Amino acid sequence: MDDGEDWMQDILDNHLEKARSRVFSLLEQTESNTDGCLVTPTKARRKTRFRGRQTAAYRFVYCVLNEEALTFEDVIRHRCNNPRCINLQHLEVGSRRDNKHDDWIFAAYGCDAEWL
Ligand SMILES: [Zn+2]
Repeated sequence: MDDGEDWMQDILDNHLEKARSRVFSLLEQTESNTDGCLVTPTKARRKTRFRGRQTAAYRFVYCVLNEEALTFEDVIRHRCNNPRCINLQHLEVGSRRDNKHDDWIFAAYGCDAEWL
């Protein structure tokens, strides 16, 4: 378990009610667009602070509503390609593994994959 996973697991186990009301207040502050996105009123993707940690609002929404503590390996992808959208229906979990492959090549050969 990494840090972020512990943090979220603790929230899911012990602070779920509070976390849910945070999610609802985040959702209340969004505007819907024609794609069905729930867009946060921020310039970039919105972040939220909860129990001493800051995380992307969409990740927070996803974890709390699905009651799932994601690991560092899990990345949230937007099906709608709108990073400010926090509509649960538009979010899905992907793996960091593809990016990892490049890191691995860098560690082994000391250069970027494209240079080989
Ligand atoms: Zn969306």
